[in-house]
Amino acid sequence: MNVADLEEMSRPLIQKGFHLTNNADDAEVILINTCTVRQHAEDKAISFIGNLKAWKKENPQRILIVAGCAAERTKDSLQRRFPFIDLVAGAKSIENFTQLINEALKEKFSWINDNQGAWDSPDFNLPPATDNPTPGLSHPGLGYVTTMRGCNYSCAYCIVPSVRGRELYRSAIAIINDSKNHVKQGAKEIMLLGQTVNSYKNPVASCELRVASQNKNVTIQSVIPAPGLRQGQVAAEIQPHRNLDPRLRVDDEGRGQKPIEDFSDLLQAVANVPGVRRLRFMSPHPHYFSGKLIETMASAPVVCEHLHLPLQSGSDRILKSMRRNYTTKEYRSIIKNLRSAMPGISLTTDIVAGFPGETEDDFKASLDIVEELEFNFAYCFKFSLREGTEAAGMEEQISEEIIKKRHARLLEIVEKTGKQKARAMLGQKMEVLWETPMEGKSRNFYNVSLSRDQRAEPGSVSWVSIDAVKNRKLLGRLMS
Ligand code: SF4
Repeated sequence: MNVADLEEMSRPLIQKGFHLTNNADDAEVILINTCTVRQHAEDKAISFIGNLKAWKKENPQRILIVAGCAAERTKDSLQRRFPFIDLVAGAKSIENFTQLINEALKEKFSWINDNQGAWDSPDFNLPPATDNPTPGLSHPGLGYVTTMRGCNYSCAYCIVPSVRGRELYRSAIAIINDSKNHVKQGAKEIMLLGQTVNSYKNPVASCELRVASQNKNVTIQSVIPAPGLRQGQVAAEIQPHRNLDPRLRVDDEGRGQKPIEDFSDLLQAVANVPGVRRLRFMSPHPHYFSGKLIETMASAPVVCEHLHLPLQSGSDRILKSMRRNYTTKEYRSIIKNLRSAMPGISLTTDIVAGFPGETEDDFKASLDIVEELEFNFAYCFKFSLREGTEAAGMEEQISEEIIKKRHARLLEIVEKTGKQKARAMLGQKMEVLWETPMEGKSRNFYNVSLSRDQRAEPGSVSWVSIDAVKNRKLLGRLMS
């Protein structure tokens, strides 16, 4: 998600005529996107900013912009510690990001004017993907599409809601248009992004339902793709248009008959966009994983046979204390239904070791469920205390030594299962989307490397046969 955010934040700069460079000495502007989920990521960003003091001193006309979640959390101290930063734009300022950038740039670059890079977007003030390629951040075959921002949850260990705010959804039409634009630019795969992506609700549909049920003035929050209606209108003005049917009905051209209300509808609509060959989404929350979503995934051939579904703990007591809002029974049921609807689907998850109050029995329950559900891979985290979260104030913090040992025990099981699963891929034929001339991703989310004598075009898709497996990495040969 950070790469997608950085792509979005870079667009106004690219629209104004700036080019990407890998060399800080050549750069006139440096934009740093920070993450605050883990202390380590925040520390790295702070250290990087400190190192840019000399870069800025060498040429004070240069512009340094620090954005993202850590910028939101620490903006006062950042400005105090590093007065040479030109602009601190926290995650909650993303909606005004273009204006903020304009102000910061105009002071140093007199040729910049307000209209350069302006766009007319109804959602988060994001520029549409058209005409704004951001080369170099992700590979050409992949298009990230943001569906929502923020999170309505309050998981006890997580800082995200306090730095990103509550959920805000983009309209389905903007998401579909962004997907089309990525395809036009050569994307074969679309990745739909959101903190809890499957809690998505089309704001246009819900807005119009409110209008229909309450019949009083309600401001329209999003652009409605029907003649005569625009952002900012109130319900009273909409009455003459009622014969258009007040529910938003969108097909892949922004018209049609199928209402898009929830994430399953959205997934289906993006799957229908001509040219989308592969479709993924990240990160779903188990609480919103409906049977309808499973059916949609299984019935849309472009949806990839992989799902990352965070579990976090195998103990119901700890899940409750984490405020995750699902039980292990519910999680198991989702996995069972998914495997039955999409046999062979590869599954990955997140697990935390050492959450406050985690007993040996709780931890054993995590080990057991990871072994039982046979994930293709699990990202194992040591519990990391973040100031400002509920977990930071909990009694019964677990010692670092115990956390380290539990994490190692978890990794052992995950690695063992992961290797077995990877070995089962030997001899299979897979479709790979190439990120570099020799590295790519299979539909079931394995990294695939080509043998030394073969090359592929980054951004293209080809079939390989898996000839060897090294740990969890697959080695393939191009099939003619
Ligand atoms: S669902 Fe929980 S872990 Fe995920 S972003 Fe929201 S609060 Fe954080």
